[in-house]
Amino acid sequence: MKGVQEISKSPSTSKRTLVSQGSVDVYAAQCNNCLKWRVVETQEKFEEIRSKASEKPFICSRKANISCDDPADIEYNSTRTWVIDKPNLPKTPQGFKRSLVLRKDYSKLDAYYITPTGKKLRTRNEIATFLKDNPEYKGVSATDFDFSSPKIMQDTIPEIAEQKDSANKKVKIAKGDT
Ligand SMILES: [Zn+2]
Repeated sequence: MKGVQEISKSPSTSKRTLVSQGSVDVYAAQCNNCLKWRVVETQEKFEEIRSKASEKPFICSRKANISCDDPADIEYNSTRTWVIDKPNLPKTPQGFKRSLVLRKDYSKLDAYYITPTGKKLRTRNEIATFLKDNPEYKGVSATDFDFSSPKIMQDTIPEIAEQKDSANKKVKIAKGDT
């Protein structure tokens, strides 16, 4: 577990958390030496660490004035819901933003990208079309985007969500192609 993100979930609320859509509010990385968790200040820094997870494993000393002797910034436990990104995912190109939204039933996170013009792109095809239609991003390649959704750590899902999930399974009705 090296590059990890955490999903927002205020520990004191109950219902609100379930009805509002969750998104990542804290980024953290685990030290390869002492296994402590360090908070990563920005998504950009997090993506930088994640993109080189194998090549350059994260260690505490990459944070200013921090060493393995310092206490962990954050503990892995069920006071928050943790999700783990696949290591080595590409760093999001400049101006674009990768976003993850947790489904209400905690079953999955949906990944999408927001373009510099504010457009939401949900698939690789949409990315390819966007890049084709906007030649000013010619330095950007479709392979710089990855829609893999992170793994939700089951032991950090609130119990109420699991119950709701099993009691109220939603069936998606296929409508056919438009
Ligand atoms: Zn360490």
